[in-house]
Amino acid sequence: MELDDHAEELASDLGVDKEEVKSDLQNLVEYSVPVDEAKQSLRRKYGDGSSGGGGTPSAKNVADITPDDGSVTVTGTVLTAGKRSIRYQGSDHVIVEGQLADETGRIDYTAWEDFGFEAGDTITAGNAGVREWDGEPELNVGESTALSFESDSLEVPYEIGGEAELADLEAGDRARTLEVAVLDCERRTIDGRDGETEILSGVLGDESGRLPFTNWDPVPEIEEGASVRIENAYVQEFRGVPEVNVSEFSRVSALEREIDVGSDATTMDVGEAVRTGGIYDVELVGNAIAIRDGSGLIQRCPECYRVIQKGQCRTHGDVDGIDDLRVKAILDDGTGTVTAVLDDELTQQVYGGNLEDALEAAREAMDQEVVADEIRENVVGREYRVRGHLSVDEYGANLDAETFEESDDDPAARATAFLEEVDA
Ligand SMILES: [Zn+2]
Repeated sequence: MELDDHAEELASDLGVDKEEVKSDLQNLVEYSVPVDEAKQSLRRKYGDGSSGGGGTPSAKNVADITPDDGSVTVTGTVLTAGKRSIRYQGSDHVIVEGQLADETGRIDYTAWEDFGFEAGDTITAGNAGVREWDGEPELNVGESTALSFESDSLEVPYEIGGEAELADLEAGDRARTLEVAVLDCERRTIDGRDGETEILSGVLGDESGRLPFTNWDPVPEIEEGASVRIENAYVQEFRGVPEVNVSEFSRVSALEREIDVGSDATTMDVGEAVRTGGIYDVELVGNAIAIRDGSGLIQRCPECYRVIQKGQCRTHGDVDGIDDLRVKAILDDGTGTVTAVLDDELTQQVYGGNLEDALEAAREAMDQEVVADEIRENVVGREYRVRGHLSVDEYGANLDAETFEESDDDPAARATAFLEEVDA
């Protein structure tokens, strides 16, 4: 049967113009979509009307695809292909996500069923949907897409596979391969979507940095002190920083080599750090310009551990609070401000006393604010070097401090040293 005959048959079945169907068909066949698949795709296109209207999905280079394209036909090499389970309209679906590339560029895709392609395969997706995600076009490969494998592989100027270092990862990354050390790992029970489940969470490290992780389906290879290769991990934002997600579809294997974990945090200007939207491990230097409310001696809810006011938890109502120490110090370096949050241990350092001392002082003054006042006296006006986890949300930038030390390159100290040098 000639293409003309196929077009004739389709046109009469679907009651549409033969020339239009023929050009659609030609287009798909030119892109190596087998003629039967192409016909099926066109039957869906013209038949049920749900995706009807508009013209033929035109064959496009990746770089030319825009979010305004309703659908396109594109040929490219699969750079990454990672499976993930999502819950959609009440049931679980396995989807495949990754990047597709041709000579002109790269594009993210989501395949709503498992077409069986892998990284390195060259495919043609006939009539793939285009949607906008975060301002960028993304391909939707679904049931109305005619997918075929090309025997001639396309040369693309991109690396195939998802090898990455922790410092390069961003929320939204899919199908990444990492070689990391497990620096910290704990087993937790969470109330998941299918009831109580055990998960692992902790911190991974490599030469480039550190990031938190969650292993949703615990594997024995992931334990504190281990070096592992993780294939098909995805990255999501959690509390303002990228988090590595290791799922049931990830492959984890033990590594023979030791991973040399860099110990230096990235040092940045406050403004620059805040603009990144969140960093897991960063070092900032700034002047403590104020101590915020909710610092000093505080009380926490025994159920949820959140800070409570006057014995009232917003979730658990009237509770018997647990005393704790905390500081929220505003740091400013001229480029921006951030709130450094100090835990009980770091607070003891800047307060110069422990929880017992704080309770004693509060009893004596009959006012727990005396603790915050003392800290304010000690801290405000000094320059600090703080290392920790920065998260940024609509309420501002918070740096969950791991270390909080008075800066050595304090301008006053530098000036004194300079004067001493001049005097000598
Ligand atoms: Zn509570």
